[in-house]
Amino acid sequence: MKLPVYLDYNATTPVDPRVLEEMIPYFCERFGNASSSNHKFGWEAEQAVAVARKRVADLIGAIPRDIVFTSGSTESNNISLKGIAESYSEKGRHIVTCTTEHKAILETCKYLEELGFEVTYLEVDGNGLLDTEELERTVTEKTIIVSVMMANNEIGTIQPVAEIGRICRSKGALFHTDATQAVGKIPVNVDEMNIDLMSISAHKFYGPKGAGALYVRGRNPRVTFAKQTHGGSQEKSLRAGTLNVTGIVGLGKACEIAAEEMDNEIERHVKMRNRMMKEVLALENTVLNGHPEKRLPNNLNFSFSDIDINALIGDLHDLAMSTGSACTSSSMEPSHVLTAIGRPRELAGSSLRLSFGRYSTDEEIDYATERLVSAVKRLSEESPQSVISKPKEIK
Ligand SMILES: *Cc1c(COP(=O)(O)O)cnc(C)c1O
Repeated sequence: MKLPVYLDYNATTPVDPRVLEEMIPYFCERFGNASSSNHKFGWEAEQAVAVARKRVADLIGAIPRDIVFTSGSTESNNISLKGIAESYSEKGRHIVTCTTEHKAILETCKYLEELGFEVTYLEVDGNGLLDTEELERTVTEKTIIVSVMMANNEIGTIQPVAEIGRICRSKGALFHTDATQAVGKIPVNVDEMNIDLMSISAHKFYGPKGAGALYVRGRNPRVTFAKQTHGGSQEKSLRAGTLNVTGIVGLGKACEIAAEEMDNEIERHVKMRNRMMKEVLALENTVLNGHPEKRLPNNLNFSFSDIDINALIGDLHDLAMSTGSACTSSSMEPSHVLTAIGRPRELAGSSLRLSFGRYSTDEEIDYATERLVSAVKRLSEESPQSVISKPKEIK
């Protein structure tokens, strides 16, 4: 077993060697521009992009025409919200989202508020789930888009997206979901889930960084969003710029592998997750963050009371994990997601996210569990408070 053990798959994943193998020819040999329609180099690239587009569409139950390639989910989130805000502002200026969204949604919403849009940030319960009845009351005829993530990157909670989509459709609002942590890990179907726009990122499921997609529903309803990048007519003029052919090929292959291996992978990860969860939650001073069942197969997030989190991380230098989320761990502010589920500041600041994946082994999970459990026990005994109390569950 190689150390440190990588337990940060929700931050990024290694590229699957099968994905890399498929990408390699498109760097030097088949380097053509997919828009060059007069010669073999261009046709080869165009053909590879078409294959990838079909693979992405197949994984999510879409048609290839409705896939727009982007640089990843940050871009997909930005162009959907800004593009819809711009093209539907005649209808209304109200947007609905959720307090536990990724910064790529929250910061975009903040920007749109500066432009005069009204944004409602729905709160979540102690498990990270939003209240669909509250959503139903919040969406009005002035609401142009609702954006709720499918699975949370920090706490792993899976939202009832099909129901959210149904509500949006019945109210005539568009539904966007940031499915970055879901696509490739759990089954996703844009029709069954009533999704109009959806963000996808290759590097969260064994594809390369800097490649992703935006699903844009073409029929029932036909979604039109104002382009946010002006230039060439690539991607039906919705996203100008020479296509990242190697990245797109990698994304396509990652989707094809996910479609084939997802069922087995879920089963394997759920076993690992439950085994580790049981051992860690047996500790007196530990609580689980996120929903106990409606959560990603590969994610765990714990808060520890009465221990020095920095000492814990220092102790566990042979485990590569996140505190809070990768995007906020450099700042001293406790995670906005843990705050949103009602964790008090001390508990929110004293949390660890462990996420594993395709290359995680039982040996690694057992090693990590043992290391974590013994470190927490030791630090709790050393804790000056020494009165160890199970933190209250917040519902
Ligand atoms: C990683 C992540 C993003 C950002 O995706 P990039 O492709 O890295 O820009 C957005 N949303 C969620 C939920 C994520 O986990």
